[in-house]
Amino acid sequence: KPLGLSPEGLEFKRGHLYDINPVGTGSMVLATTIGMLSYLGLFGELSANLSHFVSLIVCFIAVPLIAWLTKGKYYLARQSPELIPLIEEAKQLASALPAKNQAEPQVLCGVCENSFELADMSYCSVYAQPICSLCCSLDVRCLDSCKPHARLSRQLANFLRRFMTGKSVGIINSRLGRFLGLLLITNIINAALLALVYKQMMPNTVSEQMVLQQSLWTLFFIFLIVTGVISWLFLLAHESRVVAQMESNRQTRKLMREIEAHEKTDKELQRAKEHAEKANDAKSRYLSGISHELRTPLQSILGYAQLLAERPDNNEHQTRGLNIIHRSGQHLADLIEGLLDISKIEAGRLELYRNRIALPQLLDELANMFSMQASQKGIHFHYHLRGRLPKTVMADEKRLRQILINLLSNAVKYTQSGQVEFEVNYRSQIAEFIIRDTGSGIDGANLARIFDPFERVRNVHTPNVQGTGLGLTIVKLLTEIMGGELLVTSTLGVGSCFTVNLMLPWVDNEATDSSSKAKVIGYEGFQRTICLVDDDPVLRGFLSDLLIPLGFTTLEAFDAESCLGLLEQSRPDLFILDISMPGMTGLELAAVLRQRGVKAPILMLSANAQLPDEAAREKAAYDDYLVKPITNSALLEKLADYLQIKWIVQGTQVDALKQLALPERISAEPLKAASRFEIPDHPLVRELQAYAEMGYRKGVVEALGKVEEANIISAECYQYLNGLIQQFQFEQLAVSLEPTPYDPV
Ligand code: ADP
Repeated sequence: KPLGLSPEGLEFKRGHLYDINPVGTGSMVLATTIGMLSYLGLFGELSANLSHFVSLIVCFIAVPLIAWLTKGKYYLARQSPELIPLIEEAKQLASALPAKNQAEPQVLCGVCENSFELADMSYCSVYAQPICSLCCSLDVRCLDSCKPHARLSRQLANFLRRFMTGKSVGIINSRLGRFLGLLLITNIINAALLALVYKQMMPNTVSEQMVLQQSLWTLFFIFLIVTGVISWLFLLAHESRVVAQMESNRQTRKLMREIEAHEKTDKELQRAKEHAEKANDAKSRYLSGISHELRTPLQSILGYAQLLAERPDNNEHQTRGLNIIHRSGQHLADLIEGLLDISKIEAGRLELYRNRIALPQLLDELANMFSMQASQKGIHFHYHLRGRLPKTVMADEKRLRQILINLLSNAVKYTQSGQVEFEVNYRSQIAEFIIRDTGSGIDGANLARIFDPFERVRNVHTPNVQGTGLGLTIVKLLTEIMGGELLVTSTLGVGSCFTVNLMLPWVDNEATDSSSKAKVIGYEGFQRTICLVDDDPVLRGFLSDLLIPLGFTTLEAFDAESCLGLLEQSRPDLFILDISMPGMTGLELAAVLRQRGVKAPILMLSANAQLPDEAAREKAAYDDYLVKPITNSALLEKLADYLQIKWIVQGTQVDALKQLALPERISAEPLKAASRFEIPDHPLVRELQAYAEMGYRKGVVEALGKVEEANIISAECYQYLNGLIQQFQFEQLAVSLEPTPYDPV
């Protein structure tokens, strides 16, 4: 180093070094050889005695000499300029720290993930990462690919090329050449060692010398054979390791390329998925918009088809045509409803409510309803309740009904003879509903697809059964989002068994439950005024019919202007606003009311099932957003919340009720009196009412058809009830079907 023959600093990292530096290796071999020869007495007795010093002196001369001869070329095989930017970065980061925390900048090893100072690091071209000296030394997979010119075999070949032709070097570098080279080196070492032994033992007599020489020669040849075999095996093992390593590297490179390709595909897939999700969102918006728009013309089509069908001068051909129009219209209405449900569930917009459900009553109601349907079809219906049911459970009542009604109506629909069994088990908060039938059954091939939309299986047993193919799709999706599972087994021609497992946690508050079930007949305190704004007179009429008997005063307005006009005379305690109205919408009206300083709660009541998103709800002027059809009890619950009133239920506080002021109904437009008809107390009417209370449109339509066929209501009454169905006024329909309806007039 002082002579400037070797580079500054010490280099010890394998990645930067030649396998052999002639300076070190050459001077060591030279010093050892000369030292040993001196020791053997080749250079006289003095040098034999001072052989250690001879070695040392040879070293001191050979090192600078070889360094000078090789021009110091073999100290460094390469360096790592790739690390410079990383160091700069690390320095910048360190300089941002307070002076006392500043340390030598460190670089992260890409293999062991520890940080080291720059002196310990090199850049690995195989991993394409900085690597620490230890990881670099231990790595056997890289085959020194960062410095191919610095490998021993290449160095030797280059060295030999100085004295021989390329062809001779090729022969030496062949497998045989390398074997012979290895054999030669090991046997030179063996020979030297045996010579040393001979020198040490140096016998005095000639015969002893001969015996020793003979033994050592014999030993040498034995060693020659052994080293020959071992060298050959070693060479083969080395070669096969290198080949295996190269193959493994090649496969790794291929795998890396594949991973890169997968990453690319993954990104593309992600992008495609986002596109698909956006498209799906757009589809859902489009679907809910269009279904909203389709309902109105569909209502006219169905209405007129019915009106025309009633004309006495229709011939058979016309009647058949009108029936087809009516049936197709109904089918379309069912489809729209089913699609809307599915798109809502798929878009994650379906909100599940937690209602207290009186489970035994609900199941009895369903069993009664379907036993009636089954008996009309001439099949048996059995309802088995296994074990005890809790009186009240928590779940979304509407969705639970939807699941069970769909499965039960399918069972009845697809069973021509025999029976339908409805079995209910309840254990550890899990309800198991089993619906078993002896109907047409489904073969294995079709079983998997019945849960897909629009999939209907038709066979000899079910050639012309009406259906949309959406029922089971909805049941499956609903069961899944309610955290349950739906299982099916079926044998063609024998029957099917659908099982729904749902977690229905029971609640232990029968007292509040019974009070909420009890009929509300009024409220405590002074009389409240509620302003109802809706362009639909039937809905306004229904709300007034509901609220006036409870002691409220209702103000009815058919649009925003008339509502604002009403405010000049009175101050309502609460507003119920429809959203889509001619002129100003309900949302705009709510904003105007707030601008005018109205503090009373405002409830929006909309037919649009798509709830506004969280952000829109926060900004809006209203207090709550209710979706039609809303049950009476849910509406009253909201009113009690917002008006802070306490209900009086039937059978209690009779005196308090007597003190109530007489309710009034004020209208901003001449009120069209709701028609009242004779409703007989007939099982078919009860069935119709049960469906109306559930909000099950398909059931309602069918039941009304049966009521009409049985000729138990007048034609006007049928028109009126049908009108309510077409407008989805199931609440009012249920109220209108009471055998002794309340007459507010
Ligand atoms: P659909 O409106 O056609 O009844 P669903 O989605 O409810 O639509 O059912 C899909 C198909 O599954 C039906 O068309 C019918 O072929 C088959 N299926 C459903 N329930 C039963 C059952 N209980 N027995 C036999 N087949 C059934």
